[in-house]
Amino acid sequence: ATPTAVMVGTGVGASQGVLIKGGQALESAHKTGTLTIGKPLVVNTRLLKNMVLREFYGLIAAAEVNSEHPLAKAIVEYAKKFRDEENPVWAEAQNFESITGHGVKAIVQNKEIIVGNKSLMLKKKIDISIDAEEMLTEIEGLARTGILVSIDGKLTGVLAISDPLKPGAREVVSILKSMKVKSIVVTGDNWGTANSIAKEVGIDDVIAEAKPEHKAEKVKELQASGLVVAMVGDGINDSPALVAADVGMAIGAGTDIAIEAADIVLMKSNLEDVITAIDLSRKTFTRIR
Ligand code: ADP
Ligand code: MG
Repeated sequence: ATPTAVMVGTGVGASQGVLIKGGQALESAHKTGTLTIGKPLVVNTRLLKNMVLREFYGLIAAAEVNSEHPLAKAIVEYAKKFRDEENPVWAEAQNFESITGHGVKAIVQNKEIIVGNKSLMLKKKIDISIDAEEMLTEIEGLARTGILVSIDGKLTGVLAISDPLKPGAREVVSILKSMKVKSIVVTGDNWGTANSIAKEVGIDDVIAEAKPEHKAEKVKELQASGLVVAMVGDGINDSPALVAADVGMAIGAGTDIAIEAADIVLMKSNLEDVITAIDLSRKTFTRIR
């Protein structure tokens, strides 16, 4: 990380809502993703077992309400639609377990609930039917995230969660290209969804199912090949890579830990400001070309 670049750039950047690090507290009115809007919504539910949606969502919300993950928030929000108006609280979850990069597990009303991605189900030895596999492929092809639900060891539901691209994301990538900046998507999401999103935004290089340490390793690998690397991220899991990068840029509405790890904060959370930040960095830190 190169604080020098930031210090020199601050004056100009501040007037454009870009650089600034240290100093005033950031007011983050809403959270956002990096390429996506950051407000994931459940858009489809497929039940594989005979169960009513109200019971299904009651159980998974009771588990997910204990998670801070944006996908968990999307699920809980959606579950409210089915909630009993007489009794608007979720059941108590026991033995809650958050499996980073995978999902959650808990006991709710004596049932074992697992909510997460395919690799979590494989890890927990839950059988995934060919039908469910096909549903996942379809969901991922639409650039949505497929989440699987297991109840008492049986795959019970498949959710499709959508987080649309930020308007202008595609244009930013194309402007960066014209500035000879190559963009790469690095995400914890699955390969199918990541490839679809990358395609929508016009990026050819994708690394999916990346753990936080993988993101940082990738940055170091690119640096070792002689490249100067800027990393843009919003989450806790982006922090090691933000630190490793020559220039770490945090989305202003992202998590505090990401902001802490970054050299540059995009105050307005606009992806367009990545261009301004690179421009300023190039002026103040000549290695970035
Ligand atoms: P990202 O790089 O996209 O922030 P994460 O490491 O946060 O990735 O998550 C990776 C994947 O793990 C998600 O796409 C999702 O499939 C699964 N996952 C993580 N947390 C949860 C959760 N609370 N509920 C369901 N699925 C989850
Ligand atoms: Mg994230």
